[in-house]
Amino acid sequence: MGNQPVFAIVGRPNVGKSTLFNRLTGSRRSIVGDEPGITRDRIYGEVHWAGKTARLVDTGGIVPDDEALIPSEIYRQAKVALDEAEAVVMVVDGRTELASPDIDLARILLRSGKPIFLAVNKIDTEAMDAAAENFRRLGIKNLQAISAEHGHGIGDLLDEVFAVLAFPEEPEEEPAIEEPAEAEEGESLHRTHGEYQQRETRMAIIGRPNVGKSTLLNALTNSDRAIVSPIAGTTRDAVDEVVEYQGHMLRIIDTAGIRRKGKTHLMAEKLSVVMARRHLEAADVSLLVIDATEGVTASDATIGGYAHESGRSVVIVVNKWDLVTTGRTDDKPPADRAIFEEQLRRHLKYLNYAPVVFISAAHAKQDSRSLNRVLDTAIRVAQERRKRVSTGQMNKFLEKIDFQRAPVPMANRMRIFYMTQAAVAPPTFVLFTDRDVKLHFSFERFLENQIRESFGFEGSPIWFKTRPRN
Ligand code: GDP
Ligand code: GDP
Repeated sequence: MGNQPVFAIVGRPNVGKSTLFNRLTGSRRSIVGDEPGITRDRIYGEVHWAGKTARLVDTGGIVPDDEALIPSEIYRQAKVALDEAEAVVMVVDGRTELASPDIDLARILLRSGKPIFLAVNKIDTEAMDAAAENFRRLGIKNLQAISAEHGHGIGDLLDEVFAVLAFPEEPEEEPAIEEPAEAEEGESLHRTHGEYQQRETRMAIIGRPNVGKSTLLNALTNSDRAIVSPIAGTTRDAVDEVVEYQGHMLRIIDTAGIRRKGKTHLMAEKLSVVMARRHLEAADVSLLVIDATEGVTASDATIGGYAHESGRSVVIVVNKWDLVTTGRTDDKPPADRAIFEEQLRRHLKYLNYAPVVFISAAHAKQDSRSLNRVLDTAIRVAQERRKRVSTGQMNKFLEKIDFQRAPVPMANRMRIFYMTQAAVAPPTFVLFTDRDVKLHFSFERFLENQIRESFGFEGSPIWFKTRPRN
């Protein structure tokens, strides 16, 4: 399990590090009472707490007979801990006086900027709690009185430590395009006959007034191979319709809303934006309908922007294609798909991941192929959205990237230790970095392009988060 967070315990000999290690890891492998002068290498264990697992490293070290060895040993311990761990627990013996090596060690640890915790050990009874307060002088704010031997204070210590560790947000899995039927954030299950059926894809048809949303909806729900069943939603007037297409269940959200028309043009225009936002909330995939005769307008761009920001997947549907290819009254040549798409992409730059399909919804009955293309694309995009890249694949991918080609400012200022896909729908990547800086958008774009080249994620935005390890 390579991506579990690591924390370390450090401290002078005999303060109770081994006892604490054994208690935290539940390990029977006792390393207490090592012979003086014998080097024990760092020791690793797993700590399970509150449903999460972290790795613990005991920095071990020499138990010096000679007092003179102590300063170098402190530096060595601190270095091991700070190199390997994202948080450090320093252990002191609450029954002894504060010693100068402890002050040195605390200073080195605090200077690193990493989260540092002080465990004042051997506080076996509450009556001794006051003794722990003497150690405030070390300057470590997170102080916890514990008894490694009796287990006091251990839970509180772990609560504190686990709160700062960066855990992978979801358990590791191999990439699964069709995942088993289990509920997941942003997804719903269709229940029939008391059994879980295949995962549904929730589709929103969004766009300006008169682009052909309701015509497209009618084509989708009236087509011969579609099974249509209106399902009342939770809101008073929302009605969903489910279309089954090649074994996939597609729920079209709020079909009543799609057909609703505003009274005036301005009203309709405003309403279309409000409806788009509402429909996006409930959707996995949105069909952004554009009128081919008008090209991309400011309202299209506004609605497209909401779709992008919502984290939903997008298919751009260029409708009324018949009107620009045939039956034209002016002397313009018939429109060319490639040229149209190029112009469209220039206006909807942020949706560069969204596939474009051309259709004449009004003539879909005669041309079922274009309707199928809409459905095939929506299903493909829904699957891409749920795709998961394993951390193993991600590591290989990271090794391959030529960061020299990345925009210079960020690449030079930040180191990426590793990256994991923390979530699906939309695919979300967490970068573990050496410092706490926001990704520069050009660097983010570079990374996104590289990810898409290797893994696809067609139609879906890709989100990034950074987790500094300092
Ligand atoms: P290390 O050398 O820092 O790893 O310390 P050890 O874990 O070997 O412990 C040193 C001694 O302190 C051992 O004799 C332990 O039994 C004792 N010890 C450890 N934790 C506690 C505690 O919470 N209370 C008391 N009274 N003794 C402890
Ligand atoms: P909505 O407001 O987005 O739901 O748009 P409608 O579906 O009501 O369509 C607006 C107008 O465009 C209607 O008169 C439709 O008949 C027409 N229309 C829709 N799709 C097409 C198409 O593919 N080709 C042509 N020629 N007209 C279309």
